[in-house]
Amino acid sequence: MRGQSALEEMIEKLLADPQHKDHALRDALNLLWESHNDLLVRIERITRVSDGYQSIARERELSLSARFDKQLRQLEKVARISDRYQQMMRDLNIALKEASTHDALTGIGNRRLLMERLRDEADRAKRYERPLSVVMLDIDRFKAINDDFGHEIGDRVLIEIARVMEAEVREQDLCGRWGGEEFLILMPETDVTTAAQVMERVRASIGTLAVRVNNDLLSVTVSVGVAALHADENYSSTINRADVALLSAKRSGRNRVEVDA
Ligand code: GH3
Ligand code: MG
Ligand code: MG
Repeated sequence: MRGQSALEEMIEKLLADPQHKDHALRDALNLLWESHNDLLVRIERITRVSDGYQSIARERELSLSARFDKQLRQLEKVARISDRYQQMMRDLNIALKEASTHDALTGIGNRRLLMERLRDEADRAKRYERPLSVVMLDIDRFKAINDDFGHEIGDRVLIEIARVMEAEVREQDLCGRWGGEEFLILMPETDVTTAAQVMERVRASIGTLAVRVNNDLLSVTVSVGVAALHADENYSSTINRADVALLSAKRSGRNRVEVDA
């Protein structure tokens, strides 16, 4: 507790001294003394309460900052997860787009991509009066390859033919898998004569392919039909005419290029 001051000691002594028992100011001094002590007690109590408050506030501050740190760490973790998730979604989107426009077996464009490009290129060719050739290519006697060597070898032949085609056609041409063992090649800015020349090269190149099956070498040929877009026709008619030319190549003995002018 507090140390007593000299004044307080003096007053205590005066009040305790029987000599001043009947002094005129003794009662007043006594009252003042009691009220003084009362005040001191109250001041002490207020000080204690205020100290308590301060330590509670300090603790709350500490626990608040700890909670804030924790939440910050959690938020950072969530942000990292969300970044990873977004990257995954981006990769998935790219893969989905690729899958929706490309053939899973050969990796070249699929029918959907061919149709999209065909529509665009036909519009362009008509608008600027430029030539556009459409080519149908079909593997000769492919059923026999499957029957004789199995479906897996058949698949390998498809992959090899797609690879040769992609290597032989020019940068601006688009070749894709039309379905089964049929391929379509789009040749913008190309008249039917030039298209036939390019396809003659492709046909010859495929003819020299030798797919190894155990100890045998398997060779394969293709038949090709070429047609150019006419100014007054829809591109589906051009596809039909390329098909007619292909059929004619098949009927004339296969392993050849035919043109529907
Ligand atoms: P043609 O010279 O008249 O074209 O005779 P072809 O045997 O090539 O024609 P056909 O239409 O009779 O047979 C096509 C074969 O292609 C039948 C089918 O099983 C096979 N085929 C289609 N798609 C695939 C494929 O993805 N993989 C394999 N291995 N074979 C396929
Ligand atoms: Mg076919
Ligand atoms: Mg065939």
